[in-house]
Amino acid sequence: MANIPESKTGDGDLIVIDGVSHTYKTNTGPLPVLDDLTIRVPRHGFSAIVGPSGCGKSTVTRLVAGLMKPDSGTVWLHGECVVSPRSTVGMAFQNPVLLEWRSILKNVMLPLEIVPSKLDAAAKERRARDLLKLVGLAGFEDKRPSELSGGMRQRASLCRALVHQPEVLILDEPFGALDAFTREDLWLTMHRLRAEEPFTGVLITHDLREAIFLADEVIVLSGRPATVQYSLQLPDTGPRTLDHLYTSEATETLNVLRDQIRIAREGEEAGQ
Ligand code: ADP
Repeated sequence: MANIPESKTGDGDLIVIDGVSHTYKTNTGPLPVLDDLTIRVPRHGFSAIVGPSGCGKSTVTRLVAGLMKPDSGTVWLHGECVVSPRSTVGMAFQNPVLLEWRSILKNVMLPLEIVPSKLDAAAKERRARDLLKLVGLAGFEDKRPSELSGGMRQRASLCRALVHQPEVLILDEPFGALDAFTREDLWLTMHRLRAEEPFTGVLITHDLREAIFLADEVIVLSGRPATVQYSLQLPDTGPRTLDHLYTSEATETLNVLRDQIRIAREGEEAGQ
């Protein structure tokens, strides 16, 4: 069973998904995807959500981002009910969707043109340049997206998601399309970004190593309709290096999560 605390809105929780259920209407009839789902992410916490394909993980991110409303239950951000998209949420997806006609710098600055900001033009540009430097893209500001590798484009997309200093960063399989080496490099970049400027994060991933390397908590969803099957708090080991993935504790954690995913899949198959 999930080790979710009983209280509804813990003081330190920035994101509270509170008893959320949702059913999509499809051509072949109703498709229940979420069933009384409760997840809490503390301020400056980082939770990874894993689970069988099609169980409803992206639906959870769309609800947190305010892109849709659940049939029942409530999503709270900072104690406010989420009913529409908010500028305090940044998102990055598997496909970086950068605009080819804009330079990398101008792509990163895009949210600052849309979201009201106290920064003047020079400060906005400084902010974008600082972020690009932090992720190792100094010198590429004037390039077009197509001139960059996949990993570099994803770095730029992370900068764009963070440029307006959102409280919440939602990452929906952002590193899924990258090769293993580039992916590990971006994991380290994520830690750098978080150390520099703490945010509250939700990561959807299929990669259990990625989940335990990046997150403070890994939440395993059951098969559809998804509910929390298991959640695991990861110990705070301070600054992480890739060596953390090869300790006996990490192997043990991976095995626990693999077992839970297997149970989730078996539950889903049994329900079909
Ligand atoms: P996951 O991210 O875990 O793969 P999703 O949240 O994307 O799962 O989708 C869960 C299920 O809901 C899938 O079967 C998907 O095809 C279906 N689905 C997603 N969005 C819609 C929609 N707008 N209308 C109907 N069905 C949808």
